[in-house]
Amino acid sequence: MKITELIQSSNPSLSFEVFPPKSSDSYETTCAAAREIARLSPSFMSITYGAGGGTSDYTVSIAAQIQQHHIPTLAHLSCINASRENITHQLDLMRQAGIKNVLALRGDAVLPCKKTHQSRYRYASQLMETIRAYGGFCVGGACYPEMHTESRNQAEDIMHLKEKQDAGCGFLITQMVFDNHVYYNFLCKLRDAGVHIPVIPGIMPVINATQIQRITTLSGATLPQRFRYIVDRFGNDAEAMKQAGIAYATEQIVDLLANGATAVHIYSMNNASVAAKICENLSEILRYQRGVVHEN
Ligand code: FAD
Repeated sequence: MKITELIQSSNPSLSFEVFPPKSSDSYETTCAAAREIARLSPSFMSITYGAGGGTSDYTVSIAAQIQQHHIPTLAHLSCINASRENITHQLDLMRQAGIKNVLALRGDAVLPCKKTHQSRYRYASQLMETIRAYGGFCVGGACYPEMHTESRNQAEDIMHLKEKQDAGCGFLITQMVFDNHVYYNFLCKLRDAGVHIPVIPGIMPVINATQIQRITTLSGATLPQRFRYIVDRFGNDAEAMKQAGIAYATEQIVDLLANGATAVHIYSMNNASVAAKICENLSEILRYQRGVVHEN
């Protein structure tokens, strides 16, 4: 099913992200985690493409496994070092695997790469145009409520999001946000700028203190003081930090749903137990939002 159709339905959408392993040694472990998350019946699952150290080779095969559980998938695809032929090949593989949704990204240059100068792609919107010309996919893109780290200012960043919309992007998923007001303000600015496609907030349950430095450096997301106090107090104890991180993420999701969000994407980092706990925490809220009412 196409994600644009899914998130238009009256049911609230909760989705999870998984990333492929670095090597074939951990392939089975990753697939097992993805299957466990799929059993929670999320609205869809996204599978990253070479991000976070994972290799891009497994994105389609992991998506195919998830789809066996009748969960729609969103396959990420980045273009920074790709030729038109590479992209067409990936799209062929996705089509053969029955994948209907692609998150079209520029990606980041990890090392000086021999192939960079050959790539015809500089920006994600160009990849979106290729995918639109290829046909048959529902295309999404990334956005940054606190601005992309390379952007000079937010107005310019948002202008480029409008270009994504014009290039056929049907929805956006945000970089992780730890303060919902950042998302609400961003949404207002997007609407003012004529970006009217759905914008799915991305929520990251931070479950250990060591993740934090890396997350904020890579994503450009800022941590509110309220969250920093939680890390200061509980960061030394794995179980306490996990519980506090899940509680914080749950509270953010409840607030988003209460304020009209119909879809939330969770950066679950292949952690099925975290995904399960969040689903458990939200079970009654989601049941109520789906219109199944228990009398008082
Ligand atoms: P773009 O939209 O191309 O934007 C990059 C920068 O260029 C921005 O500053 C933008 O304002 C600017 N820009 C855009 N168009 C123009 C233009 N026409 N002229 C001048 N400037 C322009 N990375 C991976 O490698 N694999 C993944 O699976 C992955 N998944 C992600 C999922 C989400 C939800 C998010 C938020 C990020 C993900 N990333 C992933 C990271 C992403 O690839 C990086 O953040 C990358 O730096 C930017 O990608 P983009 O698609 O947003 O690029």
